[in-house]
Amino acid sequence: MSREAFPVLIVGAGPVGLCLALYLSRRGLRSCVIEALTAESFLDQEPRAGSIHPATLEMLDDLGLYEKMEPRGLISPKFQYWDRVRDEMFAEFDHAALKNDTRFPYVLQCERGKIIEEAMQLLRLRQECAIRMATTFHTFTQDDDGVEAVVTNEAGEEERIRGSFVVGAEGGRSNVRKTLGIEFEGFTYPERTLTVCVCYDFDRHHGYAYRNYLSDPEQWSNLFKWVQPERWRVHFPTNIDDAPERVLGDDHIQEQLQRFLPRSEPYEVVHRTLYTVHQRVATTFRVGRAILAGDSAHVMSPIGAMGMNSGVHDAVNLGEKLVAILRGDNGLDTLDRYTRQRRHVAVNHTTAQTARNKKLLEEKDAAVRQRNHDHLRRTAENPAAAREFLLRTSLLNSVREAARIE
Ligand SMILES: Cc1cc2nc3c(=O)[nH]c(=O)nc-3n(C[C@H](O)[C@H](O)[C@H](O)COP(=O)(O)OP(=O)(O)OC[C@H]3O[C@@H](n4cnc5c(N)ncnc54)[C@H](O)[C@@H]3O)c2cc1C
Repeated sequence: MSREAFPVLIVGAGPVGLCLALYLSRRGLRSCVIEALTAESFLDQEPRAGSIHPATLEMLDDLGLYEKMEPRGLISPKFQYWDRVRDEMFAEFDHAALKNDTRFPYVLQCERGKIIEEAMQLLRLRQECAIRMATTFHTFTQDDDGVEAVVTNEAGEEERIRGSFVVGAEGGRSNVRKTLGIEFEGFTYPERTLTVCVCYDFDRHHGYAYRNYLSDPEQWSNLFKWVQPERWRVHFPTNIDDAPERVLGDDHIQEQLQRFLPRSEPYEVVHRTLYTVHQRVATTFRVGRAILAGDSAHVMSPIGAMGMNSGVHDAVNLGEKLVAILRGDNGLDTLDRYTRQRRHVAVNHTTAQTARNKKLLEEKDAAVRQRNHDHLRRTAENPAAAREFLLRTSLLNSVREAARIE
């Protein structure tokens, strides 16, 4: 059993857990981050999230992280919608329309791996945070005074770690959520998404922006550019019944890419992965002294890049509340406000918006597709409507709306 007790136990050193630890440590509050991966495997993870929206950039700046990430990322002010059947761009949005709304009128393309690496380096400089790598969290108990986490530590021994609060930031399969018996309401799409990373200048050869959403009744897609190393990520839908070995095989991937943009040579593929997409929100984000944040509280389609972004917003919102409680300024019930605010965003903004994005891209009815495209085109062409649209996609609106919820 650990002799030390921590004000906050944070399970998971993903972007959400690390941002929460940074938030607390910058206010002098101690925490213990429990992470199952070893220090080596931690730096060798799937790229996953990578588009960081203006609302999140503001928060990362306040955490001292933005200045570390900007040199490793790609500033991307514009994004485009393409009709792949006609091979035509039908709407382009420029975050410059938000220049009076945010000090970051752009998206930063910077992968999850770089964010957690930089956040970890910042945290290691701070004495307020204990980081327990290679430590797997299993379950916990709680009473009126605090919580006790049960983990298997680096030495392979069972250990109990005491804290005042436990935060489940360990992703969609959260053991904190399962221990609490909280339902994860929603659904799973009956298909898998194939993500392929390619070395090819899609912008130079085809005029794509750094971020593109492509509507196609047969093969909807997203296309994003990354730097250091330079590569593009393309997403394709796949049938749930197709064998993963076939879908991830060279022949299938080259076929998909050639259909996406034909060229005389094969594409250089540097990474491939297949994942299942869920749209789920926990029925509550808090029971007693245990709180959920990030993917442990909500999971969603990556179309629109809202999972990690809204998870970081959870971390900052929760950080504010925990600081107020631990300093004696507020009671535990302030955590109910956290649930009300962040669950509202998960249900009404992020999961709803990502589901709409997917529907827009995969629409099969030609008349509905045309109507959708025309609507987006008109929105992009009208400065006031474009600004409203961008306030939603950048998540600035969701943060403002949540702040008004008591
Ligand atoms: C292909 C793809 C693209 C995406 N693109 C975007 C994007 O552009 N923008 C965006 O906002 N979101 C995106 N997302 C979603 C985003 O990756 C997630 O929402 C985000 O990573 C969630 O962060 P998190 O910290 O809550 O959890 P995670 O990132 O899942 O981190 C959880 C951490 O907890 C650890 N852990 C798990 N179980 C335990 C345990 N029992 N004990 C100890 N540690 C444990 C894990 O090892 C991990 O380090 C994308 C997702 C995918 C799949």
